[in-house]
Amino acid sequence: MLQKLFAKLENYYDEMVEIRRYFHQRPELSFQEYETAKYIQSYYEQLNIEVKGNVGGNGVVAKVYGANPGKTVGLRADFDALPIQDEKDVPYKSLVPGVMHACGHDGHTATLLVLAKALNEIKDELSGNYVFIHQHAEEYAPGGALPMIEAGCLEGVDVIFGTHLWASEPTGTIQYRVGPIMAAADRFEIEIQGKGGHGAQPHKTKDAIVTASQLVLNLQQIVSRKVNPVEAAVVTVGSFTAENAFNVIADKAKLIGTVRTFDEGVRSFIENEIERIIHGTCYLSDSTYEYNFVRGYPAVINHAKETEFLIECAKEVEEVKNIEETEPQMGGEDFAYYLQEVPGTFFYTGAKPAVDGDGYPHHHPKFDIDEKAMLIAAKTLGTAAVNCHS
Ligand code: MN
Repeated sequence: MLQKLFAKLENYYDEMVEIRRYFHQRPELSFQEYETAKYIQSYYEQLNIEVKGNVGGNGVVAKVYGANPGKTVGLRADFDALPIQDEKDVPYKSLVPGVMHACGHDGHTATLLVLAKALNEIKDELSGNYVFIHQHAEEYAPGGALPMIEAGCLEGVDVIFGTHLWASEPTGTIQYRVGPIMAAADRFEIEIQGKGGHGAQPHKTKDAIVTASQLVLNLQQIVSRKVNPVEAAVVTVGSFTAENAFNVIADKAKLIGTVRTFDEGVRSFIENEIERIIHGTCYLSDSTYEYNFVRGYPAVINHAKETEFLIECAKEVEEVKNIEETEPQMGGEDFAYYLQEVPGTFFYTGAKPAVDGDGYPHHHPKFDIDEKAMLIAAKTLGTAAVNCHS
């Protein structure tokens, strides 16, 4: 049956490319993916596949029922784009100024649509049910996964698989990891309220720039001196603003940053520790503050059994030349939420374009994928979906 599925996917490869390029030219930002969602829904409708739109927002969920009893498998692809100007010189370049599929979600969507079509055509031979979760808004927290789950997209789902086309790895590579593979990505904002005044009369002020500067340095101690060194954590202050004139002492200063962790305990510890440090630093300068810690996506934690199963599935795909364990990385992904509900795994499908040099990283204005990776992703996900019943 796998060979039959693979033959169909190969036959439909051109369609996969066509769909991917169609989306690539018409990218839509997170939470605004109305046309993309419409396209996805009508694709299923034309194939007479059960489909539901507006699931937790712009999400679309389709279902294919196999003829024989078995598990219900969820497969997820995200479909939002980024606020980046496409600077590639290709015929399928984005038609929307300032918006671009710079993370490959167009490819994820084309892969899943065509895989669904192929599975639907062999449903009389299939066991179990197949749920195709087309998720909006991955790029922008709070994201689309949570509202889609709340709207019931995982109802009845026993196991879930998802992949990200990964442009840093050559096509033919599948990267997996048991346990944490991507980090919890949180955001914090700190506003220091000092007391502004004349630049020549510092003793009558509470200099917000000096306080915020001390704070930036004090925050460095969280990772270097507070978190257990065998645990991974990042505390980055990415923005420091205190607009003022050369002869004025700043009344206010604002810091914005991000925290990345894998462990929930470390995550909460850092959230609290930042506040303790702000409190102490402001005490010294007799200033006040506002602190806002906004939790983004939790860490993506892959389940062991399903990850090991996925490795076996990847071996069935002829085009997969290299199956390797990857290091965890500090980027975020709201696939995390699905894995909190049902067992499953999230893996990377190598998609490095055949160009000179290293190509371009995800979220770069010249980002592109090797489209052949979509076929590999479809075959690997397809194998996982079909084989998990046996
Ligand atoms: Mn992405």
